[in-house]
Amino acid sequence: MTIPIPSRSLCGAVETARPTGLPSANPTRSFWTDSSPNANLLASQGSEGPLTADADICIIGSGITGVGVAYHLAQAAQATGYASMCKGPLKVVILEARDFCSGATGRNGGHLRAATYVGYAAREAAFGRDEATRSYEVEAYTTRSIVSIIQEHGWDDDIDMVNGGHIRLYFTEAAACDARRDLECTRMSSLNLKAVKWIEKEEMATEYGPPYPGVYSPAYNLWPLKFVTKLYERTEGLSGRHFSLTVHTQTPATAVERVVQGSDDQSGIRPYIVSTPRGSISCSKVVHATNGYASHLLPFLASCIVPTRGQVMAVRADVNVDQIKTNSWGNDRGSEYWFARPMQKGSDEKPLIILGGARQLAVTPFESNVQDDSTVCPVVGKALRNFLPSVFPGKFMPERKPEMEWTGIMGFTEAGDPLVGPVVDPDGNMDTFKGQFIAAGYSGHGMPRAFGCAEIISQMIIAELSGNEWNRPEWFPERFLTWNRIDDLKDSSFRA
Ligand SMILES: Cc1cc2nc3c(=O)[nH]c(=O)nc-3n(C[C@H](O)[C@H](O)[C@H](O)COP(=O)(O)OP(=O)(O)OC[C@H]3O[C@@H](n4cnc5c(N)ncnc54)[C@H](O)[C@@H]3O)c2cc1C
Repeated sequence: MTIPIPSRSLCGAVETARPTGLPSANPTRSFWTDSSPNANLLASQGSEGPLTADADICIIGSGITGVGVAYHLAQAAQATGYASMCKGPLKVVILEARDFCSGATGRNGGHLRAATYVGYAAREAAFGRDEATRSYEVEAYTTRSIVSIIQEHGWDDDIDMVNGGHIRLYFTEAAACDARRDLECTRMSSLNLKAVKWIEKEEMATEYGPPYPGVYSPAYNLWPLKFVTKLYERTEGLSGRHFSLTVHTQTPATAVERVVQGSDDQSGIRPYIVSTPRGSISCSKVVHATNGYASHLLPFLASCIVPTRGQVMAVRADVNVDQIKTNSWGNDRGSEYWFARPMQKGSDEKPLIILGGARQLAVTPFESNVQDDSTVCPVVGKALRNFLPSVFPGKFMPERKPEMEWTGIMGFTEAGDPLVGPVVDPDGNMDTFKGQFIAAGYSGHGMPRAFGCAEIISQMIIAELSGNEWNRPEWFPERFLTWNRIDDLKDSSFRA
């Protein structure tokens, strides 16, 4: 989990940008995907047997974005009585290159934390107060949506959701000073910071251990893959008169081709063919939910959404559960992030900590333009092994070998904001890719944004299918929209 910082240096050198390949065939094993035999129940769902030949909508990618789009489409299809409108169910298929949800969502840090104040002053200066405010509203909205779905269906325990809050530590005086300024500016906006609290160094040391000041914000941690699995099962369960859903794992999309020009949604003619090694799918709309790998199918995005590798480990503490708090943690650089997995009261096992970060120390600067999650970086691993012992002396053993260590690929944009909406070509032309949509580029901070962005994509598709205009909800930032990001695309040095 990284706080996106608008900086080209984090996004990698533009000159060297090349489209990504497909996700690597043998990814490292993450705690979320591989720590127990049943962790990924849908791992190979739809990987054998006949491939779906025809669909209204083909979603590429089965992470929180792809499954989120399917979920919101199902809700919308039910709510609008889709079958009566369009003489049949809305047929949705998801293609996944590897196991179900084995990209960033299945390999991340497990934090679901809506940003509350970090970066506010810079955003207000750059975008104005309304748009700055929306940066936080979209995260609050998305987090609320996820949590309310989990609570409505009673999934809390199944997905290990903990409402433990988050503490961001400030290791330097300068960083603490910036944070105070951000907090002051945010308090002057319309955002609600009632639950956000500055913690002085002395109080932090007494209550929590580390001798640094910090800020407490509301936040959750959870098992992201299990949430997406539940979401998929729930969505598939809505299949019926108005909606149908299929997923094909181990089925990479290798090309998206427009085979019919000028067809409209009412004609019933499928304008697109999505190719896979198992055959092809005819469809009307394509959703790119491929995040860090977006440029494989849309090469002109190569320098706009840059694959960036993050590393995470699961490592035991040296003290008992009563000495480890349930909140998640981060630090001023936004580079390290960690939390203790929930444990049963009275357990004599040492708590297992999920710890990620240290990209800034990697051999390849920031692991930018690294798209291989089949290996870990030893330098990052060493830094992580020594990080917690330095912040919580006595509670962690230096150099302790992690129980699991893995990497995952994020999609970074220069601004740190995702691209959401219809695919627009670098000249700003909306017709070139008409019927294709994208939500990608969360820049390491996707859990509190992707599901809301997926809802926007679903709204846009339903609006297009029903011949209505799409209207931006007030909570959604204008600058996330693809048609407002043409300059980012124009910067692209790569042309397919
Ligand atoms: C190490 C790490 C730690 C992170 N920690 C946090 C955190 O704690 N909190 C937080 O908010 N965010 C975190 N993030 C970011 C967050 O995980 C992502 O922003 C979010 O999961 C993106 O979801 P997604 O569905 O868009 O992408 P993904 O989950 O990456 O899904 C994209 C899917 O598309 C598939 N795919 C790609 N190309 C093709 C193709 N051609 N055909 C078929 N399938 C394809 C991939 O295999 C993948 O499964 C972290 C990310 C990483 C990598």
